[in-house]
Amino acid sequence: MGLVTRIVIIGGGPGGYEAALVAAQLGAEVTVVDRDGLGGASVLTDCVPSKTLIATAEVMTTFDSSYEELGIIVEDDTPPLERSARVVGVDLGKVNRRVKRLALAQSHDISSAVIRAGGRVVRGRGRVAPNQAPDGSRQVIARAADGSEETLVADAILVSTGAHPREIPDALPDGERILNWTQVYDMEELPEELIVVGSGVTGAEFAGAYQALGSRVTLVSSRDRVLPGEDPDAAAVLEDVFRRRGMNVMARSRAAAVERAGDGVEVTLSDGRVINGSHCLMAVGSIPNTADMGLEEAGVVLRESGHIKTDRVSRTSAPGIYAAGDCTGVLALASVAAMQGRIAMYHYLGDTVSPLDLRTVCANIFTDPEIATVGYSQADIDGGKIDARAVKLPLARNPRAKMQGIRDGFVKMFCRPGTGIVVGGVVVAPRASELIHPISLAVDNRLTVEQIANAFTVYPSLSGSIAEVARQLHTRKIQNES
Ligand SMILES: Cc1cc2nc3c(=O)[nH]c(=O)nc-3n(C[C@H](O)[C@H](O)[C@H](O)COP(=O)(O)OP(=O)(O)OC[C@H]3O[C@@H](n4cnc5c(N)ncnc54)[C@H](O)[C@@H]3O)c2cc1C
Repeated sequence: MGLVTRIVIIGGGPGGYEAALVAAQLGAEVTVVDRDGLGGASVLTDCVPSKTLIATAEVMTTFDSSYEELGIIVEDDTPPLERSARVVGVDLGKVNRRVKRLALAQSHDISSAVIRAGGRVVRGRGRVAPNQAPDGSRQVIARAADGSEETLVADAILVSTGAHPREIPDALPDGERILNWTQVYDMEELPEELIVVGSGVTGAEFAGAYQALGSRVTLVSSRDRVLPGEDPDAAAVLEDVFRRRGMNVMARSRAAAVERAGDGVEVTLSDGRVINGSHCLMAVGSIPNTADMGLEEAGVVLRESGHIKTDRVSRTSAPGIYAAGDCTGVLALASVAAMQGRIAMYHYLGDTVSPLDLRTVCANIFTDPEIATVGYSQADIDGGKIDARAVKLPLARNPRAKMQGIRDGFVKMFCRPGTGIVVGGVVVAPRASELIHPISLAVDNRLTVEQIANAFTVYPSLSGSIAEVARQLHTRKIQNES
């Protein structure tokens, strides 16, 4: 190693750029090689664009679902017979232009931050050279779009190349009517009849968003219910809301093929049924970006799925090569990618490091209502992974929810039976992503239900339900002890 440690990061998403900022702060010489622009898929095609689209959908749902109850009159001179059923409509072209503008601006801000911190950004595709030099250094070859190549020498490499949408051979996107989630922002007109294939987080978020924007939506789910793998009570609330708002949710229906048919699309299910729509959005998972990068030749062990095997401080099996984010398959969240990237740099550069702890991860599904979770899950408790008590309170009993016309949702908390230490929670509510924070603080700091119950909450507020759930868990603990 020379006087200054040289770090080369391949892939500038949250895993890569957060690592670059940490490495620069710790005095390393950092180069980030990225194919598409800093911020990665997270900023350019995934999180940021989808949440910007959902911001419009959220305002529309809130207004549409509550204006009558709240006594709002829509001033409209259109004769009643000519009025559409919805009182608000959307200019999707305008929404999508805003989405792309925000994404590019954020990518630009991230590049500036990395450069300001002293890092260098190289636009191109990175590949790892097979051999390690006697001094332990390695080489990364960055190939630009024009074919020119630059060789970068690194004391350590971080691979954070993310993932791309999985494709089904008989349902390939054409970018016009059959789309993956990176292609929807080119649409100028709202799809009349959208078929969403896949009812995981991405499928559910888009299905809910386009329904709120005004499309008729069919959600094709191969499983018994939407959001398999998430909290079952939360998934049941969401499915109920989806159906009540008119979504056609098709359970136990696997899409085998999707084709263009005239002006629209035809989706053939594996049992032979055919459904028609104007557009189809494929949301059937992701494939890690780890092929043709020289990883295995350099000694990096991949799983059968193509994900890079890492330990809890982001080391791969090859000395001097770390990996972070979606390419590792640990947990596909921007926050987890960023944490893995930072941990890699703290570890390599000799700073204090705590290994990755997935038991405290906080996540949110941006549907309406939102579903936020932290810590141990209901499945962990039911499966005997941890002994914990649960209390669930419906939001419909909360005074603020009543005032705001909120009917759907709940707060659920899990605590250890003896100590009352909070180990997890679920919030299903508008802006659950904000409401989960006190439970997340409790999980991270091993606070007890008594401590949460004793803290003041504003009256009236949705967070009052969090204190109330904690109070009920605390009371039950006392009753069990006496
Ligand atoms: C629709 C959607 C919505 C999502 N919403 C959220 C959300 O709200 N919250 C959340 O926490 N997570 C969300 N996620 C997940 C989140 O986007 C990912 O977990 C996150 O992007 C992972 O970050 P990363 O750094 O691993 O990779 P990415 O963000 O994928 O970035 C990887 C970068 O590496 C580049 N690259 C790839 N190969 C090479 C190469 N050989 N050389 C150079 N560069 C290369 C890519 O071009 C890209 O720029 C969402 C995912 C999807 C699909």
